[in-house]
Amino acid sequence: MLVVSPIMSATQNSGRLLNLMLAKPSIDRASELRTDPVKLDELWKSAKVLILAGDRVQSSSDALVLLDWTQVQGEGEKYFLGIDRTDGQSYFAWHVPALEIEDPRFVTLREVGANLSDLEAGLAVHAVALGNWHRVHPMCSRCGAPTRVDLGGAVRICDLDESQHHPRTDPAVIVLVKDEDDRILLGHQPIWPDKRFSNFAGFVEPGESFEQCVVREVAEESGVVVHSVSYLGSQPWPFPASIMIAFEAVTSDVSTALADGVEITEIRWVSRSEMKAAVASQDILLPPRISVARRMIEHWYGPGANEDLQGGDSWRP
Ligand SMILES: [Zn+2]
Repeated sequence: MLVVSPIMSATQNSGRLLNLMLAKPSIDRASELRTDPVKLDELWKSAKVLILAGDRVQSSSDALVLLDWTQVQGEGEKYFLGIDRTDGQSYFAWHVPALEIEDPRFVTLREVGANLSDLEAGLAVHAVALGNWHRVHPMCSRCGAPTRVDLGGAVRICDLDESQHHPRTDPAVIVLVKDEDDRILLGHQPIWPDKRFSNFAGFVEPGESFEQCVVREVAEESGVVVHSVSYLGSQPWPFPASIMIAFEAVTSDVSTALADGVEITEIRWVSRSEMKAAVASQDILLPPRISVARRMIEHWYGPGANEDLQGGDSWRP
């Protein structure tokens, strides 16, 4: 419990930070056990196992399907996800290649994520993030030889040059841009469904701080210069390998706002009353509930968000 409690207290905060669906208190990753293959084998024999096919998890409509280890069949890679310290239950993922034909038992985390319990969400983001990385790193990036899984899935090893390869996570900032009248600026990307508007986001570049990235990305996509950058929270986003770091920022000059015409084709300033009306008339389609963007917009909107801001849960145009 000592290991878990700091995570609990950091995420169940006073309400200043966002309550994000894929960033919940979860099980202890028990990283000290990754170096003990005998102990990992022992844990496997009482484990609950999440089957991962490519980037899809085995799931019923509203819960992960977790198998007993004896039900696991065929060739795959085994990743240790951790232990629930409250009951001693260990969890693993079993990663098999992507299915060649669609199988309704396997769904993406985007589709099922909003329905999962905190425990399940923690297991699923860990498993999918690991699986996505392992899937595209079968070879050593230094010498080209095949690599193998080690440390319970936490690394891959090249036996030829003895190099270790660690899973990567790509940081991206996402920004709630406000003006001095507390309106927010939203943008539309041409790849999104019609009428979908969301916040501005982009990958952190090498040598750049999160705050610098916030200022650069907002200026590039919307033409607006922001200041007063403050942190709102973070959420793993393994599609395929990101973590979204959320900020809000303020602009004192709305006159420069202009869509870049490439990544963002339309921008809109909205007040709360305009937001309520636009969502009701389907003139604005909000981002899905699982996303950081949706939580940021609800956080800004404040009381009544659950009732007034409905819809938007489709990912597809
Ligand atoms: Zn190598």
